[in-house]
Amino acid sequence: MGLVVQKFGGSSLKDAENVMEAARKAVRAKHAGDQVIVVVSAQGSTTDDLIAKAAEISAAPDAREMDVLLATGEQISIALTAMAIQELGEKAVSLTGPQIGVVTDRTHRKARIRSIDTRRLKDALDAGNIVVVAGFQGHDELGDISTLGRGGSDTTAVAVAAALKLAGLEVECEIYTDVDGVYTTDPRLVPDARKMDAISYDEMLEMASMGAGVMHSRSIEFAKKFDVPLMVRNSRSDAVGTWIMPEAEWMREFPACGVALATDEARVVLDGVPDVPGVSHRVFAALAGANLAVDMIAQSAGGGGKATIGFTVPGVELDRTRRVLQPLATELGATFRETGKVSKVSVVGAGMRTVAGVAERMFAALAAEGVNMKMITTGDIKISVLIEEDGSGDPPPEAVPGEKIKQAHLDARKAVLGRKALRAVHRAFALADARKGAGVPAAGEFRHKPAPAVVPGERDREAAVARLGGMEDVLVSSVHLNTDQSRVTIFDLPDLPGNCSRVFSAVATGGVLVDMIVQNLTAHGRAELSFTVPAADLTRALKRTQDVVRGIDPACRVSGDADIAVLFVLGVGMRTHTGVARTMFGALAERGINISMINTSEVCVSVVVERSRGEEALACLREAFRIG
Ligand code: ADP
Ligand code: ASP
Ligand code: MG
Repeated sequence: MGLVVQKFGGSSLKDAENVMEAARKAVRAKHAGDQVIVVVSAQGSTTDDLIAKAAEISAAPDAREMDVLLATGEQISIALTAMAIQELGEKAVSLTGPQIGVVTDRTHRKARIRSIDTRRLKDALDAGNIVVVAGFQGHDELGDISTLGRGGSDTTAVAVAAALKLAGLEVECEIYTDVDGVYTTDPRLVPDARKMDAISYDEMLEMASMGAGVMHSRSIEFAKKFDVPLMVRNSRSDAVGTWIMPEAEWMREFPACGVALATDEARVVLDGVPDVPGVSHRVFAALAGANLAVDMIAQSAGGGGKATIGFTVPGVELDRTRRVLQPLATELGATFRETGKVSKVSVVGAGMRTVAGVAERMFAALAAEGVNMKMITTGDIKISVLIEEDGSGDPPPEAVPGEKIKQAHLDARKAVLGRKALRAVHRAFALADARKGAGVPAAGEFRHKPAPAVVPGERDREAAVARLGGMEDVLVSSVHLNTDQSRVTIFDLPDLPGNCSRVFSAVATGGVLVDMIVQNLTAHGRAELSFTVPAADLTRALKRTQDVVRGIDPACRVSGDADIAVLFVLGVGMRTHTGVARTMFGALAERGINISMINTSEVCVSVVVERSRGEEALACLREAFRIG
């Protein structure tokens, strides 16, 4: 007998009929011989409605009180779902997050799980119940109610599965939602998006953290860390959905598996920052200290000993970011700037590590649509570009009578240029076409079967409980140094659509594999574009860049730098655990090692330093992250 954790999202619990349907699925799994836990979200748009109610009272409601309010949505769902199961003749019991001992930190509205006490859950299961658990909520050490951030019920579901796996049960987690699985992009925005049969944990983690709202990114961290088999599927059918699983060989054949759009970010620029070691540390340590997760970071050397640092933060955190950074900017003699509404489009794929020309293909597609890129950053398996919206958003769409459109979709519809870019990139990588893992069988099964669970002995049980104590701690698995890379930098590139595309097309035609890319916009409408290439290709890449740039604007300067080292810190949850960047930049700053390029993603943070300090930087990062 195994344990199935079934999670039903808000759209799958809209009304009584939906609740009965979810109950039927749970009862069916129980009759098939498994123990069953059902994790539920708030019904339909309840959470959006509760947020709107609070806004009628206060423009900036207290986070603790918001958690008390928002947690009520899930509480309605557990009671109704338990009643529905009982109505079908099965035993069921509903439990809130605090009742099952989900202990979190005290960051209201985006709390992280510290531990889950599995005793109550196991007792209720062993008594023959289908256990119905409220997603999205827990309590802090004072007993105050906390919530995990929008979409957080997915994280509850996978965390509960992980906790019970550590207790020795054979678990599987099913995420029931309103689409058939994970698609190559949001099927509501790109109708020819294709459903995938399987996607790797890392790809899903990047997709989710770059805006694919189908899964809460932190749930994927748990699934990967604790090796939980996970499937996203449709609550209104029995169709097989998408397995989220460890990376398989065939996944590396494709440069891209999906594209994501995020419309809820804001861009911040610090101009005139002194270009000396330790400054980026001060900036990012201040942000991390306030628990602000920074996404795209582009730092340009500028001139006259001054640098420009650009980055994005979640739109809802812009006010806090300003409050944290304004005094520091003044102290550093820098200017704090915010830009208008932006959209971020990211392409993700495990094959990107080895397939050349991915950036070029993406930029060419955007150039062909006349879409200008304000910022570019890359990760190990993703490339993100930032696009400034011109404010010509659609009028609010007419809702289907009786149906409320999710706030996230309303926001996405207003991002006219972002959607246009999303469609163009989806087309450029032919993602609507069938391929292995998306309509065509691949070697091996898609289904993920981890090693069988071991019933822990007394000592193992203690170790398991200790692991549960740091469930959501960041996992930094390795640090690497690459001294085989060189860098090309273009200064003063006119900020016009197509210019980046021309550069990368010239470089790609030479067969050069571009790795890190950072593009930032300086104050006067000119871009600084840096990218790394294999050291052996520097001369070729430089020559091609110089030739193409001369044709764009003879005023642009191009320089090559063979004197660099790239350091990669790999793990999961690297970006959203704000402590990673702080530890990394702090350790380097302490040694006076200057960082000249930074890229962040959920699975990798990379920095460029002087080659002569590479080994020293590697040793100090290994020490900082306690990696042997
Ligand atoms: P739930 O209420 O079940 O939690 P969500 O709204 O959180 O549902 O997630 C499902 C929605 O995610 C879909 O309706 C779809 O519009 C959106 N979505 C965004 N990106 C993707 C993607 N790559 N694949 C599938 N759905 C996606
Ligand atoms: N009800 C919460 C939300 O709407 C949590 C969830 O749906 O996962 O964000
Ligand atoms: Mg969701």
